[in-house]
Amino acid sequence: MIPFNAPPVVGTEIDYMQAAISSGKLCGDGGFTHRCQQWMEQRFTSPKVLLTPSCTASLEMAAMLLDIKPGDEVIMPSFNFVSTANAFVLRGATVVFVDVRPDTMNIDESKIEAAITERTRVIVPVHYAGVACEMDSIMALAQQYNLLVVEDAAQGMMSTYKGQALGTIGHIGCFSFHETKNYTAGGEGGAILVNDPTLVDRAEVIREKGTNRSQFFRGQVDKYTWRDIGSSYLMSDLQAAYLWGQLEAADRINQRRLSLWKQYYDSLLPLVKAGRIALPSIPAACVHNAHMFYIKLRDIEDRTAFIDSLKAAGIMSVFHYIPLHTCPAGEQFGRFAGEDRYTSQESARLVRLPLFYTLSDADQYRVINSVLGFFA
Ligand SMILES: *Cc1c(COP(=O)(O)O)cnc(C)c1O
Repeated sequence: MIPFNAPPVVGTEIDYMQAAISSGKLCGDGGFTHRCQQWMEQRFTSPKVLLTPSCTASLEMAAMLLDIKPGDEVIMPSFNFVSTANAFVLRGATVVFVDVRPDTMNIDESKIEAAITERTRVIVPVHYAGVACEMDSIMALAQQYNLLVVEDAAQGMMSTYKGQALGTIGHIGCFSFHETKNYTAGGEGGAILVNDPTLVDRAEVIREKGTNRSQFFRGQVDKYTWRDIGSSYLMSDLQAAYLWGQLEAADRINQRRLSLWKQYYDSLLPLVKAGRIALPSIPAACVHNAHMFYIKLRDIEDRTAFIDSLKAAGIMSVFHYIPLHTCPAGEQFGRFAGEDRYTSQESARLVRLPLFYTLSDADQYRVINSVLGFFA
């Protein structure tokens, strides 16, 4: 059986976790947390990166930090993971869904302006598959209408847009270290990138249960007290130790994923020329991180037959997402602005092939042969 995903493991994690245990301190903001945060601040150029329990938690923090209130509207794609919507719905906001572009499956920047109302507060570009949204247009719109931008870069660590790291372009960026992402903190984990320096102090307070405990530990205040709303949004240092092993190997992991991605692309290109499938496209401004490899089939029937055929060959492939505006909670908490020209149609055609750090060339060859066999 070739699984759809296997969590990345590089071999150093166990030693770093042992070191964390020996240090006698496992809670948040320990030595490994600081190493990981500093590494990301320097590598990606962000004034403040904080590790969190998940990208979901980072998004929730972002909604608190931006003071999202009942009645506010937040713009995002409907072809999306639920956490992005939930984080804002938890603060009472209404989610306004905008259609995607079929070439990248990212929010269509040309359709955002029509969705803006006097209640709009935030735009959330989701960098699908680690391929950047059209950030210049989105940032210009945000400036024009005085809106904030939270990048859902859950899939986008190590990708760039016009040379800038994803997650560092908006006011806030969010990463995921779930085991299905390119780098993991032992199964679950996330980070929030606070790119607007005026938000940094409050981000630390919200992450520390609404207290100024971070300032206390730095010796900046002589006691810590309850200052604001907040929650426990720290990652255990044991998980940060796992993550540290992954960050040290980040370039190696990235290169391996990119080479697997290119092998899929080159091998399946003849099917595009034969008019059988569509492949992802990477706009010229984007350097991606090979977060996923997907193909698009003719329609949902074709896709179901394809998934079944791979499964019979012992290969797991998966589809996603059910467009949020068609889900019960999406109907309750959101609305679609404009026409659903591509979201429903394109999401029903899309299927993801196995792509993970430890996928062997031999196994990938088997996947490619089974895909080619289905269309033969
Ligand atoms: C994975 C993912 C999330 C959630 O990440 P967690 O770390 O599992 O909370 C949010 N948004 C997108 C686009 C994702 O792919």
